[in-house]
Amino acid sequence: MAEKVQIFNNLTRSKLPFVPVIAGEVKFYSCGPTVYDFIHVGNARALIVGDLIHRIFKTLGYHVTFVRNFTDVDDKIINKAKEKNEDALAYAKRFINECNIDMNELGMLPATHTPIVSETIPEIINLIEDIIKNGFGYVVEGEVFFHVPAFRSYGKLSKKKLEQLEHGNRVEVDDKKKHPSDFVLWKPAKEGEIFWQSPWGKGRPGWHIECSAMSKKYLGETFDIHHGGVDLMFPHHENEIAQSEAGNGKTYCNYWCHHEFLNFGDTKMSKSLGNVVTIRQFTDKFGGVVLRQLLLSAHYRTVMVWSEQAIERAISDVERIHKFVIHFKIAKSKNVDSSGSDELTGKIADLVNKMKKDLSNDFNVPGAIAHYFSMIRMINRDYLDEQLDFSHKKKLTPDLIKAIEEMTLLTKNAVGMIYDNPEEVLKTVERAKKNISKQEQKLSSETIEQLIIERKEARIAKNWSRADEIRKELDASGIILKDSPDGTVTWSYK
Ligand SMILES: [Zn+2]
Repeated sequence: MAEKVQIFNNLTRSKLPFVPVIAGEVKFYSCGPTVYDFIHVGNARALIVGDLIHRIFKTLGYHVTFVRNFTDVDDKIINKAKEKNEDALAYAKRFINECNIDMNELGMLPATHTPIVSETIPEIINLIEDIIKNGFGYVVEGEVFFHVPAFRSYGKLSKKKLEQLEHGNRVEVDDKKKHPSDFVLWKPAKEGEIFWQSPWGKGRPGWHIECSAMSKKYLGETFDIHHGGVDLMFPHHENEIAQSEAGNGKTYCNYWCHHEFLNFGDTKMSKSLGNVVTIRQFTDKFGGVVLRQLLLSAHYRTVMVWSEQAIERAISDVERIHKFVIHFKIAKSKNVDSSGSDELTGKIADLVNKMKKDLSNDFNVPGAIAHYFSMIRMINRDYLDEQLDFSHKKKLTPDLIKAIEEMTLLTKNAVGMIYDNPEEVLKTVERAKKNISKQEQKLSSETIEQLIIERKEARIAKNWSRADEIRKELDASGIILKDSPDGTVTWSYK
């Protein structure tokens, strides 16, 4: 029996019990990357959150069909390939391979299907034909548009009203469009560009239509969960809904999950991080296991701030976890009382349940991980030893070993933070520690107190931007401020 799951559904902006189309099954789609270069480190969050949803459902007993696409036909790809004098599809293929290497390094499970645009053209054309047939699309000089006003419920996900869009100046003006919000389903190929034959002439698909066609091909007309970055909600996801529901005449997707940004904005990058832009550059220096741990530390619906402190914390967490795995393995062979029983077994069984509860509560991964760390703390204290000298430690018992193994397996499967080769991971940790800047300037407590007073004065003067600046400055130096209702401010190191 699969565990019951609650999901924050952006269609309703509320947390709801998850009711799949088919009991015990999850049909899940996640918008994948456009492969015009190595993947930016900012894309890692999308990849990891998709992987977590996939893993958590599997671990909780569901049969999951997970589709993540690669956009291999796109202006950026065409232009980059032209610069390099390469065939556009071959160029994209190269970066799909690189992205697969990155995903492997990040400890991701393979998706069930990873469709690409260039292999989905017949399905895309069929869907566009249905949209036109049903009265939602029109053709102007070989270009096909979706007519947004014809789709009455447009805006149901992003909560934007068509009238607002009409008057906004963000919508591009195009003489061929009947309405400024109308968007392209198929565009004619320019001279020398890659194209496919279609009922409307030689051309290629617009961006939004690929996800509608790919999800239909592998998940059916109505599926359970769609995931992507919050920046894709409008217009991309709104347009996906319009296309699919107009073409198929059925509800497109029941639950919409969006992850928040990875925020690089207000962080001063030190020299050691300043030139880290792609996932590959990060993993070369710090390892995929560290990037994964870093991304697991924030709930998917909170903005995550990219900082050196956060990376340092992830490095030490990775070290702690994998040292535990190694020490436990050794203790299991050296320090066991095979006839004993231990009251801690029940406590760990409780932690297993708490972890499942967190995982099924809108994928609360940070909460789930905290239970694993609780277990590590308890076992390290009484049973394990850095120096592998167990003489002053309690002996493990068979039922305790079983409980620890169950907890470890659950954590490994559900969040993927325990890698298979802990000794190798510790080598990565050593490399990461060398590469992270050690010359961080620690602020003295006098300086901190001085800044707190300055912030207080700025607030009294209603100079909010200065007050905020000081808070951020302290935050970047690893200092957290806590404002009490009575006006006093206390601080601590992160
Ligand atoms: Zn998409």
